[in-house]
Formats: sequence, C-alpha cells, structure tokens
Amino acid sequence: MAQNETWYETLHAGFGQYFSVDNVLYHEKTDHQDLIIFENAAFGRVMALDGVVQTTERDEFIYHEMLTHVPLLAHGNAKKVLIIGGGDGGMLREVCRHQALEQITMVEIDAGVVNFCKAYLPNHSAGAYDDPRFKLVIDDGVNFVSQTTEKFDVIISDCTDPIGPGESLFTSAFYEGCKRCLNENGIFVAQNGVCFLQQEEAITSHRKLHHSFNDVSFYQAAIPTYYGGIMTFAWASDNPALREVDHATLQARFAAAGLACRYYNPAIHTGSFALPQYLLNALSESR
Ligand code: SAM
Repeated sequence: MAQNETWYETLHAGFGQYFSVDNVLYHEKTDHQDLIIFENAAFGRVMALDGVVQTTERDEFIYHEMLTHVPLLAHGNAKKVLIIGGGDGGMLREVCRHQALEQITMVEIDAGVVNFCKAYLPNHSAGAYDDPRFKLVIDDGVNFVSQTTEKFDVIISDCTDPIGPGESLFTSAFYEGCKRCLNENGIFVAQNGVCFLQQEEAITSHRKLHHSFNDVSFYQAAIPTYYGGIMTFAWASDNPALREVDHATLQARFAAAGLACRYYNPAIHTGSFALPQYLLNALSESR
C-alpha cells in the first residue's frame, strides 16, 4: 500500500468505508494478524487489523471513554481491572485515569500490536504503559481468564471483531472464564459491534452471556469509524442495580474521580443504556 492510494475496509460485504492514504507508517503481518498504520487527513493516524479499522486518532476517545468510565463509575469501588485486547493502549490510558485503582492487567494476544502502537500511536497510550499499577500479559484472553487465580472488579474486552484471533473472545468459554475471575459485584463489558449491521453478534453474545450472568444488556455510542450506526457494548453482571446507578451518584463519582472527558458525562452514561426497539425486539425473540 503506497501513499496517495485508497484503503478500503473489508469488514462488511457490499458496504463499507474507505480512507485516502496520505502516508503509510507501518504495514506488516504479525504472528497473528495483518497490521497497518497509516495517516489520513480526516482522521489522523488509523490502525487496522486484517482489513478492519481498529482505531483512529480523531475518534478513539468516544470508544475508550465509554468502555472504561461507564463500568468503572457504575461499580464505584473498583480496585482491580482486567483489559482483554486493547493493544493500541487507548483503553489503558483511560483506565489509568482512575487513581483509586490498585492494579491494571492487560492480556493482549499480539505483542506486535503493543510495540507498534507505542511507536506509531503514542497519543493512544500517552505514557500509560509506564503506570506502576500496570501489568502486561501476552496471551489469548480466553486462556488467561480460564486459568488465572486472580480476581477482578471490572473486565473490559477491547477486542477485534469475531474474526481471526478475536473469535475466541465471543465464546461461552470466554464469558464463563470472565465470570469465574470477577469479584462479587463485578462487571464485564465488551465491544459488541455495530448492531444495525452485526445484529447477530449482539444476539449471540446476549444468549451466551445469560448462561453465566444474571443481568445482561447493552449500552451504546456512535463512533464515526465504526460506521453503520451505534456501536453496542455488552454489559454483564450479577447485580442489576449496577446498570441503574442514579444520576446524582454518577455525578458525585465523576466529580470525585476528577475526570475531564470529551464524550463521557453522567447523562450520556444513563442515556447510553436506552436501546433501539429493533434491537430490543431481536433480543427478546432470541431468548
Ligand atoms: N477498538 C477496536 C474495536 O472496537 O474493534 C479494538 C481495538 S484493539 C486494537 C483490539 C485488540 O484485540 C488487538 O490488539 C488484537 O491483537 C487483540 N486481540 C484479538 N484477539 C485477541 C485474543 N483472543 N486475546 C487477546 N487479545 C486479542
């Protein structure tokens, strides 16, 4: 791929997005996936794995703020967080902003993604890899959650789509593993695709998560380069109250955490659990 070419995303058949490539910074096949990082005038640096956009400098904050601050501020007393995937470092950056956390573990299957994103997407991790609370484990997330003896308060699955290495992070074995290594009142969240185009992904996750958790739902946000409508984030816990924390409590926790966000705020938190009727209908029909 040379400069002044056009990069086409290959996630969906017959419908997609493209980026003009102003400068290719890196393009190699790692041990697990095809990794490209290029510059685009509209979205800054763009990273894609196996032909699917993973993150861009311009809109990554929406996804990383929502997949981090919603579960952490809903929990209210998290000390240990597990990130599955997250090789670009954006999720780690947002998690590290919560000073009350004592330990942050990230399990990433591809060391190449971590190394290259540190070099070519430095603003994503923004030094978070140096946080003394941070531990990196290079492994398949499903192996880790099935074998670890550690327990966590929040687990964030920041994975690719269920193709290639990401497929194992949408299995019942993975969800059961996450349940076994969550503390009481623990929360599991995961990126679960753009429901208008990947509705089956949401239905399947909903059904599988219900085998392990009492309370399963989704929350949502619109992220421009995860095109096709709202992105759904899977939510699972054994305490339904965690999904319905009142605004005043969220506001107080948000203020106490001292977070200055560009997308997240307590009203967005509450509103993000409102889902379109077509998704609610599909989920109830699939139970
Ligand atoms: N924001 C992106 C999205 O929503 O599609 C995800 C970004 S992040 C780059 C996805 C990460 O998941 C990648 O670093 C990839 O290597 C990692 N990954 C994929 N499959 C994995 C697995 N089975 N275990 C751990 N990490 C995995």
